[in-house]
Amino acid sequence: MILPGATVGVLGGGQLGRMFTLQARTMGYRVVVLDPDPQSPAGAVADRQLRAPYEDEAALAEMSRSCDAITTEFENVPAEALERLSRSAIIRPPVTAVATAQDRIAEKTFFRQHGFPTPEFHPVRNRKELDQALAAISPPALLKTSRLGYDGKGQALVNAEADAVSAFEKFKGVPCVLERRVELKSELSVILARGEDGEIVTFPPAENRHQQGILETSVVPARVSDALTRDARELATAVAEAMAYIGVLGVELFVTAGEQLLVNEMAPRPHNSGHYTIDACSTDQFEQQLRALCGLPLAQPWLLSPVAMINLLGDLWQGGEPRWEEALRRPGVRLHLYGKAEPRPGRKMGHLNCLAPDPSRALALALETRDALAKPPT
Ligand code: AMP
Repeated sequence: MILPGATVGVLGGGQLGRMFTLQARTMGYRVVVLDPDPQSPAGAVADRQLRAPYEDEAALAEMSRSCDAITTEFENVPAEALERLSRSAIIRPPVTAVATAQDRIAEKTFFRQHGFPTPEFHPVRNRKELDQALAAISPPALLKTSRLGYDGKGQALVNAEADAVSAFEKFKGVPCVLERRVELKSELSVILARGEDGEIVTFPPAENRHQQGILETSVVPARVSDALTRDARELATAVAEAMAYIGVLGVELFVTAGEQLLVNEMAPRPHNSGHYTIDACSTDQFEQQLRALCGLPLAQPWLLSPVAMINLLGDLWQGGEPRWEEALRRPGVRLHLYGKAEPRPGRKMGHLNCLAPDPSRALALALETRDALAKPPT
């Protein structure tokens, strides 16, 4: 066990790294962040930030020298850098899990090989494979780049074959997957932690809504049947077991019109849809990340209140600084901001966790508060 007083490292200095750092410091750990950005949200609250690219030999050597264990908040840290670090340091999650999650073709193939249901997909690495994929899946479909896609980036809607061809060209012919567009009844996610000893603890599934590919709201408890909630937890648990995962894992699931669960993707780290745990659970996803990293016993989380999380995107700043008093004066609303200087459209600047007596009222409170924050553009 790596106990309080030790130093933990985190690769990536975004908001997930920041919330991890704050939690680790609360529990008496020292934190070193590696991120090239001199103004990273996590670096601002860490004991130390190494400002260097993720592949930088000297920075990786310094991480492994100064940290008792290292985790990642960002799945696009090059797998080779993690691999190199893992030779001299404790790295969780396992490098193989991160490498699988950062490549959609590998990820979806892994799901299929283990019998986890997914939307039908075909790898597209060249024009010939695109034609074969289109012969198998007729539109509507989605073309998604295999690597470096997030928040709806690297995705194109395919309503006709010509859309797929032009999207593949727009993506400059990088490897992609063509995926059947599923009629969704809802979307769920399960955040879980798996310890070194194989123990798995799941958080209550969240019901998620997206806008233009970006998560907008997460509501807990999810407003689906108890059977679906149980099946979602079991499916996510099976995914973590199949990978011999250690750490916090987010599993995104689709609920089809016929109430079937499909695995969409996984994140080898805490997940945006798990931010509700900070204010609504007896332990949160960042504490579990620290516990799994340090070989501490995992906490048993319970839900303290129904909750809705709503993301605050840079668009909210269009008319100037949002009216924070609208969040602060409403009972049950908690404001989280990530300390990012530049509010670009679509950029995640913060979130609200809104507690209420039932999930629908929590969602209504979240939407109403977010809308009240925005000043009209001048
Ligand atoms: P992803 O980046 O793959 O998680 O996709 C972002 C969002 O796009 C998902 O959360 C869904 O709302 C939507 N989406 C992605 N793939 C599909 C699909 N095969 N069918 C329907 N909607 C999808």
